[in-house]
Amino acid sequence: MINLKSFEVWFITGSQHLYGEETLRLVAEHSQHIADGLNADAKIPVTIVYKPVVKTPEEIYDTLLAANSAQNCIGIITWMHTFSPAKMWIRGLSILQKPMLHLHTQYNRDIPWSSIDMDFMNLNQSAHGDREFGFMVSRLRKNRKVVVGHWQDPGVISQIETWTRAAAGWQDWQGAKFARFGDNMRYVAVTDGDKVEAEMKFGYSVNTYGIGDLVKLISEVSEADIDALLIEYEETYTMDASLKKGGDKHSSVYEAAKIELGLRKFLLDGNFKGFTDTFEDLHGMVQLPGIAAQRLMADGYGFAGEGDWKTAALVRACKVMGAGLPGGNAFMEDYTYHFDPNNALVLGSHMLEVDASLINGKASLEVHPLGIGGKADPARLVFNVAGGEALNASIVDMGNRFRLIVNEVEAIEPIEDLPNLPVARVLWKPYPDMKTGCAAWIYAGGAHHTAYSQNLTAEHLQDFADIAGLEFIRIGKDTKLDQLRNELRWNEVAYK
Ligand code: MN
Repeated sequence: MINLKSFEVWFITGSQHLYGEETLRLVAEHSQHIADGLNADAKIPVTIVYKPVVKTPEEIYDTLLAANSAQNCIGIITWMHTFSPAKMWIRGLSILQKPMLHLHTQYNRDIPWSSIDMDFMNLNQSAHGDREFGFMVSRLRKNRKVVVGHWQDPGVISQIETWTRAAAGWQDWQGAKFARFGDNMRYVAVTDGDKVEAEMKFGYSVNTYGIGDLVKLISEVSEADIDALLIEYEETYTMDASLKKGGDKHSSVYEAAKIELGLRKFLLDGNFKGFTDTFEDLHGMVQLPGIAAQRLMADGYGFAGEGDWKTAALVRACKVMGAGLPGGNAFMEDYTYHFDPNNALVLGSHMLEVDASLINGKASLEVHPLGIGGKADPARLVFNVAGGEALNASIVDMGNRFRLIVNEVEAIEPIEDLPNLPVARVLWKPYPDMKTGCAAWIYAGGAHHTAYSQNLTAEHLQDFADIAGLEFIRIGKDTKLDQLRNELRWNEVAYK
């Protein structure tokens, strides 16, 4: 569903006419070589496009203006092979609306000790050309990512890759539509927020739809489509005989399949990238969307429960950023704790809707009663989730700004059976440790709903926050609580 290769990042090299034709020819040749090298690198998920070297204020302005309006251009990489006097960049940078990565590199890795002369020095002078450019970007107060090192260095390529993924997530938000069935869960604070401000700031819109509009589509689903989906369920998941055709709980699975088909059609017809619903407003629906939400998330749709549109949008952005990488990006909720001092853990889950992209092995399709919502017993997928490095991310509305909070965690495979737990579940240890991680999260105002990622790092989210102009709070291995509390205090001034 999500293909990042259709996104372009433009590689733009700055220079000037001072050096003469021969030097400029070499600048162009080297730039093309670097752009082609990045484009050919299997790690880079987007298409890197070489653009002719810019040498005048007019060329800079025209190129950046074109980048703004090019539909597939998700950002630019800039590099000053030579010296590009930065007053030439003021007009262009002032109108630039696409994300920028400043690659502080050099065509040659090593100094050619025995042959170096002034011609070589004048060609390969990014060491000071990029400083001149960097000053101007700082003077203009523009966010960008600065990456330093030789362009073939795996660490440099990894940082570029991370940023291209963040830029892709950002591009995907621009003009994106998220459907909200019903309002926010009654009285809940953190899942609510300013949708107008979010649209101005993030580029996506959230609009409400009557649950009756969805119910109508569900009622129109054809028997043939339901049959086909029921066969797919049986082929994909472990199912008790009582859930299969003729079994006494089959009608629950049948209803769940109907809901999935209706919901899928609603999202496709409306060109939505995600949705949210609430169990307090499901008039006309037989059961809550359980397996439907789980499978739609696995197909790339953003989702969060209880009207939480901010988390639904963040889950979608994480899915775009992580596209093609092993592992999943999922809607998650901190549910309950294991406070064993020697093995403190968080159990993450939701009442139904745990993302099927996290399935480790074969999931079990089950039907159980649900204590809340007052609807028929819903079908859901039950599974364990693999261990390994992961993170939780949350966007909250602080009133005068949005804040993105990330907690790096170590996921742990369940060591005990949980025979009576009728939902999918994840276990993790927050970094730097349970007490500090949870306290830091609560001081920062992080939500109980998160986007849980198995394949993104804090760097992806930080790049994303920089592009979005979001406040970013990272809780990781080296977090100290006193320092973090000061950071939060100081940020109040920074964002005043
Ligand atoms: Mn919830």
